[in-house]
Amino acid sequence: MKRSFWIGIICAACCLGNIPSSSAVQTASIGSTFSCTFLDSGDQGFFDSSSTHTWDQGQIDAAIRALSTWDSLINSTPGRTLTVGLTWYDGANSSTLASAYSPYFYYKSNGPQQVSTLAESVWRDGSTRAGTGYDIYIQCNTAHLSSLYYEDALSPEHTGKYDFQSILTHEVGHTVGFLSLATQTGSFQVQAGNTPAAYSTMLYTRYDSLLTNQEGQSIVNKAGNGNTAFTLGETLSLDDTGLTAYNPPTWQQGSSMAHIDSASDPDALMQYSLSPDTYHRTLTEGEMELMRSMGWNMVPEPCTSALALLGLAALTLRRRRF
Ligand SMILES: [Zn+2]
Repeated sequence: MKRSFWIGIICAACCLGNIPSSSAVQTASIGSTFSCTFLDSGDQGFFDSSSTHTWDQGQIDAAIRALSTWDSLINSTPGRTLTVGLTWYDGANSSTLASAYSPYFYYKSNGPQQVSTLAESVWRDGSTRAGTGYDIYIQCNTAHLSSLYYEDALSPEHTGKYDFQSILTHEVGHTVGFLSLATQTGSFQVQAGNTPAAYSTMLYTRYDSLLTNQEGQSIVNKAGNGNTAFTLGETLSLDDTGLTAYNPPTWQQGSSMAHIDSASDPDALMQYSLSPDTYHRTLTEGEMELMRSMGWNMVPEPCTSALALLGLAALTLRRRRF
């Protein structure tokens, strides 16, 4: 019997729920790849929470540039247009700049299995599968509104602001594959049901399937045999890209494993935090290679990485997670 479960992946937390219809009026299309809806204050946003801020033109333009970057890097043909809901939440006292979500599904009731997000399924694999809400959600934290930089031009000045375009480009990356179902206990998420629908299944992502330890063993295969798959702090490589996963000795929920260790690629778009006056607006060569390993058809020539790297040393303490 075919089973279908919907579970969320988000940069900082996991969620379950239904998505009400939206009354937002601001929309934008990016080719035939994305149809974006900018959810204003009061519009039903991420699941049952309303957006808490109204998008201004500078913010919308930065979001369109971020999505256009992905559209220009990926040559895979989507099975249908992807819908993107962009929303705001009040996350006072949180250092999280933004988070992202694309639903995934699984069928088997037991045994390890790989899951794909809806974005991967539709865009990478050409599926026409329909979702119940937006295919991609991006929610931004209003707590950092006054610290965001929206302009297209890179500022050579030390303004102390976080580049909104970099943030959104990063968040889209989570929905198209930079995500992990590894857990704090050194294994992978297990979904279980009670009788009469008893089941138990270990889930992992395509990204997870590329993680190997320094002995060259796949950690997904290790977990599938009931062993501890990895230890916190262990160096884990991502295929033969030269990249390693961010796996600090102390587990960081929402950050660990789902990001690139900046020690392996200082310019990585998908590193776990961003410094003010720093711009990571596109994928590095290593990240392009990782996307190919994850099954994507990427443009032949990788774009220039690291457009600018300013004021890093002095501002390390002000890095923010995303
Ligand atoms: Zn992130």
